[in-house]
Parts: sequence; C-alpha cells; structure tokens
Amino acid sequence: MITYLAMKKAIYPGSFDPLTNGHVDIVKRALQVFDRVVIALSHNHDKSAVFSFEERVFLIQQSFKEDPRLEIVIIKGLLVDFAHEQRTPFIVRGLRAQSDFEYEFQLAAMNRCLKPCIDTVFFMTGSDNYFLSSRLVKEVAFLGGDVSKMVPAVVVEALKNKRLELENKRERRDDAIGD
Ligand code: ADP
Repeated sequence: MITYLAMKKAIYPGSFDPLTNGHVDIVKRALQVFDRVVIALSHNHDKSAVFSFEERVFLIQQSFKEDPRLEIVIIKGLLVDFAHEQRTPFIVRGLRAQSDFEYEFQLAAMNRCLKPCIDTVFFMTGSDNYFLSSRLVKEVAFLGGDVSKMVPAVVVEALKNKRLELENKRERRDDAIGD
C-alpha cells in the first residue's frame, strides 16, 4: 500500500527515443491534473534505442526549459517498484489509435496485478499528434524528411546530427569491409 502524498504526483514512463510533440502534449496535460510529473525513461528490451539515455534526458530537459514541476529519471527495475519509491499510485500513459489500446490495457492490468493500488491514467492523443510516434519520426528524419512540426526544435537538431553520425559510421564500416 502506498501512503499518498498530499501533493499529487504521477509517473510518465516511456522510451522517449526521442521526445515528440505527442509526448510533450501528454506531459502538459498531465501537469494540469497533477502537481508534479516524473518522466521515467525505462529500459525497454524490445527496442534498441537510437539516442543514449543521456541524450534523451538532455532533449527532454531542453524541451521543457527545466520546468520545476517536472523531474526526469532513468529507471532500471519494475515501474511499480519505482512508483512505490516515489510514493505515488499514478502512472500516466498516452493513447493513440486502437492499436495502442491492446498493449496499454495489458500493461495497466499487469501493473495492477503486481501492485493493486497502482492506477494508470490515460490521456487521448491530441488531434495534431495522433499519427506521431518516435519510430516514424526517426524513419522520416533519417530519410531526410522535415520533422519540424512533429518534434521540439532541439530534437530536430539532434535528429540531424544523429543522421550524420549514423551515416559516418556506415561509411567507415563500408570502407573497412572494402579494404
Ligand atoms: P514506450 O516504449 O513505453 O511505448 P514511448 O516513448 O513510445 O514509450 O511512449 C510513451 C507513452 O507515450 C506511451 O503511452 C505512448 O502511447 C504515448 N505516446 C507516444 N506518442 C504519442 C502521441 N503521439 N500521442 C499520445 N500519446 C503518445
């Protein structure tokens, strides 16, 4: 059982690889309901991240101009244990299309099975963001597409630099194979 804090705090977990305007919208709306939001970057074993944890934390910090109501944390263990440490039962998640629902439903149910006091609060995606995912944004950006309407300005720059970095790496590898 979690002892409630007088101040309402929620945890928003995710990969944020990288932060998109969809995530930003969810954070802003969560801050209208909760006094504090802890963005928790989790190790997701299904995905190999393009941006390092440090890079992702930096991009989130810059995008929110270090809002004192926001905290950014990297978590390694179970989310429900982290929620317990933080003394909050509230987890925030975003919902886009129906395809998100099945996975999010399972995740919320699993977390409640692990700790029955945990409640997941869902925010529906904003109408401008329903098609946005970190995966698609990376795909478009790495093929040279314009993602400036989809992610914060600092992320646009980071995607450009990452594209160059990956291209240079690929060229060096191709050269090494050619030798
Ligand atoms: P995860 O790997 O945990 O799904 P993501 O960073 O992809 O991490 O997403 C974190 C949360 O934000 C998820 O609940 C996801 O559904 C939500 N989310 C991602 N993009 C959007 C969006 N465009 N609109 C609303 N919610 C979103």
